[in-house]
Amino acid sequence: MADGSIDAQRLMELVIATYHAHESTYDAFEKNTETLLRDNQVLRGNLSALSQAFDGQNRLFEIVLNNLPLGLSVFDAGQRLTLYNIRFPQLFGLMPDDIAAGATISELVGKMRGNENTTSRTVRRTARASSAKAGNSSVRRREWLMHDGRIIQSMVTILPDGSSIAIHADVTEDRKAAERITYLAHHDPLTGLPNRMYFREQVDATLAEREEDEQIALVHLNLDRFKSINNTSGVSVGDKILQQVAERIRAAAGSENTLARLGSDEFAILQTGKQQPWNVTALADQIRRELSEPFLNGEKQVELSVSMGIAIAPTDGEETDILLKNAGVALSHAKADGRRRERFFTGEMESQMQLRHALEADLRTAVENDEFELHYQPLYDLAGRRICGFEALIRWNHPVRGRVPPMDFIPLAEEVGLVVDIGRWVLRRACTDAAQWPESIKVAVNVSAMQFRSGDLTQDVGEALAAAALSPSRLELEITESVLMENLNEVLPILHALKERGIRISMDDFGTGYSSLSYLSSFPFDKIKIDKSFVNDIVDNKEAHAIMRAIILLGDALGMRVTVEGVETAAQLALLECEACDEIQGYHISPPRPVRDVPHLLSLPPKNSNATPLPTIKG
Ligand code: C2E
Ligand code: MG
Ligand code: MG
Repeated sequence: MADGSIDAQRLMELVIATYHAHESTYDAFEKNTETLLRDNQVLRGNLSALSQAFDGQNRLFEIVLNNLPLGLSVFDAGQRLTLYNIRFPQLFGLMPDDIAAGATISELVGKMRGNENTTSRTVRRTARASSAKAGNSSVRRREWLMHDGRIIQSMVTILPDGSSIAIHADVTEDRKAAERITYLAHHDPLTGLPNRMYFREQVDATLAEREEDEQIALVHLNLDRFKSINNTSGVSVGDKILQQVAERIRAAAGSENTLARLGSDEFAILQTGKQQPWNVTALADQIRRELSEPFLNGEKQVELSVSMGIAIAPTDGEETDILLKNAGVALSHAKADGRRRERFFTGEMESQMQLRHALEADLRTAVENDEFELHYQPLYDLAGRRICGFEALIRWNHPVRGRVPPMDFIPLAEEVGLVVDIGRWVLRRACTDAAQWPESIKVAVNVSAMQFRSGDLTQDVGEALAAAALSPSRLELEITESVLMENLNEVLPILHALKERGIRISMDDFGTGYSSLSYLSSFPFDKIKIDKSFVNDIVDNKEAHAIMRAIILLGDALGMRVTVEGVETAAQLALLECEACDEIQGYHISPPRPVRDVPHLLSLPPKNSNATPLPTIKG
């Protein structure tokens, strides 16, 4: 194979050096060259010993070359092919005639079945110009795109005399695997959209290239109540709907904006340009329109809405992290303001957020520090004209802020999961207190959705009853529709289990939710509590009265006890006495009072509609 003009041993050194260079990365190349030169010394020693054992150098050489997994070619100073192994013509699709000794590089390039990918060409000079071994040789990487789709990479060492030696490898599979890995690392497999990591990189790059007068809007989207779809229809339906959502948001965002899926039901869009906030408002409107049509799940239609938080660079931040955080803050405001809307980030939101964080930190220690207290509000039985129970209502005595009402911390406690611990404390306290009251007096405790989801409610209830030695029939649990909406399938078995143990279950704030009737029929509630918003006008407004009557009759027809909340006047009481209302609760009977006032409340004479309200008892 060799034409004899090349010193076989020297050539072998170069083959090995080029082979190694091919495998090394370019960044490490110069270091590798030094290593190679050292390795070559060792190899040369080994080779010379070996070659003595073989018949001649050339035979050894031929065996090695033809067993290389890579293609090898050597061209002399006149660019003519002087040596090659079997793999070389195979890789480039060259025929035996094409590679007759003496063929030039350009002839071979003309005949091979592919073209050079000139964009990937690189050249490096070896550093050791002083080294006699390396001389001033240079290494060049070339890449070929073959007609059949393969990619061949060549590592060419050009020697000082102009001759060259090249190693060629089929890198198609490596390249495909690398592309796949890069794609997977950057995309969400469900929707095919860029993922959070890729999105961040794009925001980074866009912010870095931002021109002085350019604005960059970042929209953080979150589907409203998407969890309930996953929970009621199953994750695979949820996934299908998410794919449809992604498709629609993609259509709304168009190709000029960057869209990504940040997490389960969270998406983000990056919009560049100048006319802000108008452009991003138009984009948000378009998204809302696209998502307003129901989604299809087989025969069933699923309605979805979206909340959006928007932050605009440079006003709301010039760094990716800050912009993302602020869009998130604006999103939580959109959610808190009733969902299905967009909110632009403002500085005020930031300070509110800090307040919330401070409150959350305090809330975390409140149970341990014994800062909670229960107040009790009477449930008044109209037929018996007597108090038949008390609703436990939590109060937070904050060491600095004073008394914080439940609506200012229960939603936060729900969001951050603390409501499970707080709820456990409430159950224990309420059962312990109620155990001191007469047998006929029940205690009602409010329970949050989170307690069904994250905690073991049945166990907490069982332990609270056992610790207080309270009969289960004296405990009522109040849940709102939102508890059922979040996860009907998970909540129903727990409710049934509790009911079987003799605990009573009430539907609280009835009439304030979206689809009261369907939830009302999903479980045999013992009681419905009609929300106080229905009481306000019943005395003066005929329609309000008619609605109240209808709801009371509905509860009655379903065999549920009916309580009306928020009764504040004797006139309201008088009117409700005439309806089929079983119980009332409200300031007219008594506001919520500390536990020590319970005996006093129980000792009061019956309340009749003509009597004047109780004087306020000092707590
Ligand atoms: P809720 O369960 O519907 O409780 C009734 C609320 O109405 C109480 O507010 C009570 O003070 C108020 N109220 C009672 N009578 C009247 C009246 O005549 N007029 C008016 N305008 N309001 C009246 P509060 O104590 O501020 O509690 C608010 C909500 O906080 C409760 O609504 C309940 O959803 C939640 N909550 C209270 N304690 C707990 C608890 O221990 N755990 C959980 N998860 N939630 C609780
Ligand atoms: Mg309640
Ligand atoms: Mg209520």
